[in-house]
Amino acid sequence: MGNRIIVVGGGAAGMMAAIVAKRNGSDVILLERNDRVGKKLLTTGNGRCNYTNLYTSLNNYHGEDTSFIEDALCEFNVNKTIEFFEKLGITPATEDNGKVYPLSFQASSMLDVLRYELEYQGVQLITDAYVVDIYKKKKFIVKLKDGRDFSCDKIILATGGMAMPVSGSDGNGYSLAKKLGHTITDIFPGLVQLKLEGNIFKQVNGVKFVGTAGIYHKGKLIAKDRGDILFTDYGISGPPILQISRRANELLNKNETVEIKVSIIDTKSAEELKVYLIKRFNNMPIKTIEEALIGLINKRLILPVLKELNIDKKNTAGNIDEKDIIKIANLLTSWSFKITGNKGWGQAQVTAGGVNTNEVNSKTMESKIVEGLYLVGEILDVDGDCGGFNLQWAWSSGYVAGINAAKS
Ligand SMILES: Cc1cc2nc3c(=O)[nH]c(=O)nc-3n(C[C@H](O)[C@H](O)[C@H](O)COP(=O)(O)OP(=O)(O)OC[C@H]3O[C@@H](n4cnc5c(N)ncnc54)[C@H](O)[C@@H]3O)c2cc1C
Repeated sequence: MGNRIIVVGGGAAGMMAAIVAKRNGSDVILLERNDRVGKKLLTTGNGRCNYTNLYTSLNNYHGEDTSFIEDALCEFNVNKTIEFFEKLGITPATEDNGKVYPLSFQASSMLDVLRYELEYQGVQLITDAYVVDIYKKKKFIVKLKDGRDFSCDKIILATGGMAMPVSGSDGNGYSLAKKLGHTITDIFPGLVQLKLEGNIFKQVNGVKFVGTAGIYHKGKLIAKDRGDILFTDYGISGPPILQISRRANELLNKNETVEIKVSIIDTKSAEELKVYLIKRFNNMPIKTIEEALIGLINKRLILPVLKELNIDKKNTAGNIDEKDIIKIANLLTSWSFKITGNKGWGQAQVTAGGVNTNEVNSKTMESKIVEGLYLVGEILDVDGDCGGFNLQWAWSSGYVAGINAAKS
């Protein structure tokens, strides 16, 4: 038998690492604090699991040193990932923007095949095993909350980050890593809904539109995305918002003032919209301005827009001043709100920040501080965009650690 490896955390990265280490001849124990593995995996991709992305590149990743990610992503790339899962039974189905799902469109399929493989390979899976301490004497000693302890030659720490703490990843892994000598960069939620300042949100809660949103800091655009945007009672949500939220949260974390500009109409410039509105209002001069906006924007937005601009809703379209038309055109193409915060860890899909990647060997995922300790997945200061990139990181880093930890 090869060396004995303990994998701490049965999420995406931990399961991958355990399977690969076992296939490469090690004796592997996988410890998971929950009563079953892969709780978070089941919720991914709205229950469909967007497990990778055909267009994965370094540009989809963030962290203090994104070059760290390259080696693992090359070693176990998207093709190898698809092939790996295909061998386990997952037929890939590609949707828009290169997102890959199991053809069953069930996240549970991913978990089922991983669990099958863990068992088939003979990984010793121990659930209800909450690791509270790890230290190294000659061997590593791993202590559980219930008093049990284990010893092993190598440890793979795969405890995840802080996002969705009910899944078991509640940040406790950072304490384990710190105690072993690692440093943790600033952490904050990534891919999360944003809270905005203003009193329109109760009224517009649930209004959805295809538009563009941009994050602004000191008047400069720093992130932008387009797609289905949703106003909520606290602010704003939808895939483009999640995608750009990281940049906002990074600055909010430093107490900076951050703004979001929302284009409810993003197919015309403000000037083009003004010209269009003048023509539109000329065609319906006796309608009230409230009536004259029906069919252009969601009806539930009309009164909040007019109120925001101090325009009397009873004014007729034929009587409205050009300066009010300009105000409407400006607001609909760029409505500014101050960002006051985000929906927090409970709603976030990923953790930005984590174990400092300068302290980890990018080719093996082994700690540069403690020999025989490997760190994988979201616990590291690596986070990806929405679209399958975070799971790809979990698979790639887990694979690389599994292979390398199995070498004696
Ligand atoms: C709602 C939601 C949807 C998502 N959808 C997608 C998607 O479609 N595509 C995508 O690429 N990414 C998605 N993500 C992100 C992705 O799921 C994570 O980045 C990925 O699961 C991280 O894998 P991990 O193994 O590092 O950590 P996790 O999956 O968080 O696993 C860590 C495991 O360690 C266990 N653990 C923690 N501490 C201990 C301890 N002390 N002792 C024992 N066990 C411990 C936890 O219980 C958990 O099972 C989504 C995230 C969320 C929250």
